Amino acid sequence: MSNENKSQCYIDMCEENILKTYNRFQIVLEKGDGVYLYDADDKKYLDFAAGIAVFALGYNDKEYNDALKSQIDKVIHTSNLFYNIPAAQAAKKLVEVSGMSKVFFTNSGTEAIEGAMKVARKYAYNKDGSTDHEIIAMHHSFHGRSLGALSVTGNVKYQEAFKPLIGGIKFAQFNDLESVKAQITDKTCAIIMETVQGEGGIYPATPEFLKGVKALCDEKDILLILDEIQCGMGRTGYQFAWQEYGVMPDVMTCAKALGCGVPVGAFVLGEKAAKNSLVAGDHGTTYGGNPLATAAVNKVFELFEERDILNHVKKVSKYLEEKLDELVASVDIFTTRRGKGLMQGLVCAEGVNPGDIVAKALEKGLIVITAGSNVVRMVPPLVIEEKHVDEMIAIMKEISK
Ligand SMILES: *Cc1c(COP(=O)(O)O)cnc(C)c1O
Repeated sequence: MSNENKSQCYIDMCEENILKTYNRFQIVLEKGDGVYLYDADDKKYLDFAAGIAVFALGYNDKEYNDALKSQIDKVIHTSNLFYNIPAAQAAKKLVEVSGMSKVFFTNSGTEAIEGAMKVARKYAYNKDGSTDHEIIAMHHSFHGRSLGALSVTGNVKYQEAFKPLIGGIKFAQFNDLESVKAQITDKTCAIIMETVQGEGGIYPATPEFLKGVKALCDEKDILLILDEIQCGMGRTGYQFAWQEYGVMPDVMTCAKALGCGVPVGAFVLGEKAAKNSLVAGDHGTTYGGNPLATAAVNKVFELFEERDILNHVKKVSKYLEEKLDELVASVDIFTTRRGKGLMQGLVCAEGVNPGDIVAKALEKGLIVITAGSNVVRMVPPLVIEEKHVDEMIAIMKEISK
């Protein structure tokens, strides 16, 4: 295989054998180091996507890799018929940092959403024994592609061909408390939303909205489910984005950066939901919480503390916001910046396709992704430094000409 053909060879192999549900970039990523990735032909990329907000600690981190290797040499999988040590430690950590009550480990974000929805239905069922409860979700939300998670994902394009979806789902306008109130009935068992909408276009919840929804939920004994899969785990400069608002959910979903690359998610229950919902026999998973995945979670939390990641994000994101604001003011292709911490979106001007900008950036060795219909999204590893911001800005300026 000649060197310049290496990437193309694997692209062809993938297209021949993997079901085409993605339009992938014509790049084969082979290895990573810090905030840089390398393709199969050794082209270097500055990574401002982190595998969609996953690789918080950067690539090829020795301590993280060693922790996984040492767990591999002990035991990788046990099933949930037994206890295991890394899961015990990871759950304790999640409970400590969230101040919430109980954890269920999953293999993905989507599964965490499924579990959270079951918690809500069971909680309501325990109260009145009826089986027609409703969940309120938000337009432009994203919660996953399984039939349950898709049912609460406010994107008709993703849903249409797969109907009928699960029943009893109503949609409200994000950041519009009145529209949420209008959907509430005596059947409502949960309100589900992202604290910062990601795929929909990087929209942070306003404090008034989140606090208003929380008050409504408390008043009517409805569970508030906050999806922290993308915006949690330090991305906004807080361990969980809701901590900045002081609004603790009844159920929180995590994934993406929770394991920093090892597939793991979780739904975490506050005391009220934990005491009155799922019990033995109600829910399960073969892999969820397996020792390898939860060893990754433990190491992630340990390294977050050791490296003071939250304060680093608070600091470096100020610089990023400043530089992005300067960029937006100096070019024609963007109109505004939106976001929190290291979760930022640049809104494209009328007629500018964010996909074209992403493609041009890739050509110049910068990985950024899109969100919504007109946003260029940046969710870099949380360990980026000011010099990486400068490097990104230089490339963005070049392609904005
Ligand atoms: C990515 C994402 C999901 C789905 O997580 P998967 O691990 O892809 O199943 C759900 N909610 C939000 C907010 C996400 O960003």
